[in-house]
Amino acid sequence: MSVPNAIEVVDLVVGVDELSAVRGVSFAVPARGRMGLVGESGSGKSMTAMALMGLLPPGWQARGRVLHDGVDLLTLSDKALSSRRGRTISMVFQDPMSSLNPVRRVGDQIADVIHRHMGVTRRAAHAQAIDLMTQMNLPRPEQLARAFPHQISGGQKQRIMIAMALACYPQLIIADEPTTALDVTVQKQVLRLLNAATRERNSALLMITHDLPVIAAMCDTVAVMYAGRIVEHGPVQKVFRTPRHHYTRGLLDSQPTMDNIALDGSSRLHSIPGMVPPLHALPSGCAFHPRCPAATDRCRTSMPEIDATGAACWHPVPVAAPAEAAS
Ligand code: SF4
Repeated sequence: MSVPNAIEVVDLVVGVDELSAVRGVSFAVPARGRMGLVGESGSGKSMTAMALMGLLPPGWQARGRVLHDGVDLLTLSDKALSSRRGRTISMVFQDPMSSLNPVRRVGDQIADVIHRHMGVTRRAAHAQAIDLMTQMNLPRPEQLARAFPHQISGGQKQRIMIAMALACYPQLIIADEPTTALDVTVQKQVLRLLNAATRERNSALLMITHDLPVIAAMCDTVAVMYAGRIVEHGPVQKVFRTPRHHYTRGLLDSQPTMDNIALDGSSRLHSIPGMVPPLHALPSGCAFHPRCPAATDRCRTSMPEIDATGAACWHPVPVAAPAEAAS
């Protein structure tokens, strides 16, 4: 029996005026599944998330289909979308300050979500908010609930955001770089919490990040985005062990490991030459061709689609023979 999808995105295009930040993206996250969306800044991953949530900046528009809970979210009115946000689909943002109300106590903000979507009294919503804060390992939750956002730490704010996102047991949580603004020591705790809490609630997770180890630790599948398109997609183990797209290969080679960081300074850490192209100057053919070591004339003139290799590439990275891979 096939597992229903928490969300299915079909040929999503997101743009403003003549420019497109997302150019025909398709993927599905199964119910209770965990997918990573990875890429550099400017790859279109955050715009994809904003389109799914119906939170695009003024002037931006989305086309395609976003199927969730039996409806196409792109066809819903703002009011209908707003009634779903926080209930069946919710989001944890990179910067909690941008989504927390600075003049409302944090406990009340969690209770507001519960009261609005779960149809319980204010008193019951407040009790559930305290309970959630306890589950988020927040210290002295009754006392902390009375604090305003500026009175608590960055890690605590992000835990409050996760509590708000999880409050109504949504089918899908989208986490957009949820720990980038936090200290390294706090990042792991928050990720562990997000991982455990989404599993406990059977929520699917769409994790958006540039951090490959986070994807490896938390996700089943990964889609790699470049210049507004998914260029490689598949199970995390397969994509990270045997990447077929040269951009994925470059991203993996750019990750610091004990092997490629030498204490004597002779680092073997690679970087991908050049930059992600701006929207107004996307290269023809495969948009990665100006940075790709394997580019040919075909790459410069014709855009590849994802094929059986899982990658959109005319000349996929060869898969090393087992003996070669082990050496
Ligand atoms: S299609 Fe060509 S330019 Fe693009 S990644 Fe593959 S080899 Fe490189």
